[in-house]
Amino acid sequence: MVRSCVHIVGGGVIGLACAWELSRNGHDVTVVAPSPGRDGASWVAAGMLAPVTEAQFGESALTALLLAGARLWPGFAAALEEAAQESIGYDTTGTVTVALDASDRASLDDLLAYQQSLGLEATRCSASECRALVPALSPTLRGGIEVPGDHQVDNRALLTALGAACRHGGVAFVESSVSAVGAGPELVLADGRRLHPDHVVLAAGTGLPFIGGLEGAGLPEVRPVKGHIIRVRPPSGPHAGAAPLLTRTVRGLVHGHSVYLVPRRDGSVVVGATVEERGDDTAVLAGAVHELLCDARAIVPGLDELELSEVAAGLRPATPDNTPRIGWTALEGVMLAVGHFRNGILLAPLTAAAVVDLLGERPVAPVIEALAPA
Ligand SMILES: Cc1cc2nc3c(=O)[nH]c(=O)nc-3n(C[C@H](O)[C@H](O)[C@H](O)COP(=O)(O)OP(=O)(O)OC[C@H]3O[C@@H](n4cnc5c(N)ncnc54)[C@H](O)[C@@H]3O)c2cc1C
Repeated sequence: MVRSCVHIVGGGVIGLACAWELSRNGHDVTVVAPSPGRDGASWVAAGMLAPVTEAQFGESALTALLLAGARLWPGFAAALEEAAQESIGYDTTGTVTVALDASDRASLDDLLAYQQSLGLEATRCSASECRALVPALSPTLRGGIEVPGDHQVDNRALLTALGAACRHGGVAFVESSVSAVGAGPELVLADGRRLHPDHVVLAAGTGLPFIGGLEGAGLPEVRPVKGHIIRVRPPSGPHAGAAPLLTRTVRGLVHGHSVYLVPRRDGSVVVGATVEERGDDTAVLAGAVHELLCDARAIVPGLDELELSEVAAGLRPATPDNTPRIGWTALEGVMLAVGHFRNGILLAPLTAAAVVDLLGERPVAPVIEALAPA
């Protein structure tokens, strides 16, 4: 294998996963990003690894990609924890999706039929079967679906571990924005410095359209899709020390709205998320937070007793067909790894493996070939 000098633009989960895999494969890697491992959609996300509950009608090709991504997670998690010497909170307990009213139940049954038509592992549950799996569920629910193969990781622990593994593996960091990409390839930084690697991987998420010099690169449109998300934690003070509210991920349909609650090992819970086409706007709006909390407490009433620790909004990087683009661009030496929309945490190991293969001129699987930017 030829050792090449690769600069990665972006320090989210995609950039860092690519950096770590490339370094493990003998390349000389630098990450160029203003705040690697501490910003972007990756920092805000919930960390679900959910190929089944993310399956949407008419997106069977994307589901196949998500399943391929999920298959890599056990090996990736073990190798990363070993390399970083840190836990990433990888949890394989599984997921339950519940319905609040009769119409939500009918929608879930349609979804279940679709999931089963794709051969996905999902089982219809009565309300009492759901409550046996998750005692904190409201007694008024109309049952749900058990999905044992949808897992989760603590996305912030994941980013920290990726950063540590990169540093142990010799990856360099340049904490700056890239303002333009030129032929060569060349990276022009915000402070005017110019870098000249052999190859560039563009993993800048929703920052991609703001990088100059890429007009002839044949890039897809990447738009931001806003998501509000809330973090709550166990109470401190006289009510401290209670058992965790949840130990497995709960997703719900509440009068037609989707909501999820993802528990962490420390007893905190991530509640998400809205899906809003509002452009490049991360303002946290009271109405969105109110709606998310109302929907979440309708299915898990005990949420009321937890302390609110964070409200945030992030921008998912989405392409017109909601599918990522991974592969060489029309600019020589410049590769793309963007557009992971709702599933960038899930798809990080698969994307990183694909980037290593493409750089080494090795054949990639058809699911990856189909993601070529051209
Ligand atoms: C509310 C919410 C919940 C989510 N939940 C999940 C989930 O449960 N499971 C899941 O799989 N996915 C989830 N996602 C989606 C997931 O977070 C994204 O798909 C993923 O984080 C995209 O990673 P990324 O590295 O491409 O982009 P980002 O994480 O946005 O990172 C982009 C990076 O590029 C850098 N950058 C931008 N412009 C430049 C520039 N000019 N120069 C240098 N660097 C630049 C940024 O600073 C940042 O470091 C969620 C997203 C949101 C918003």
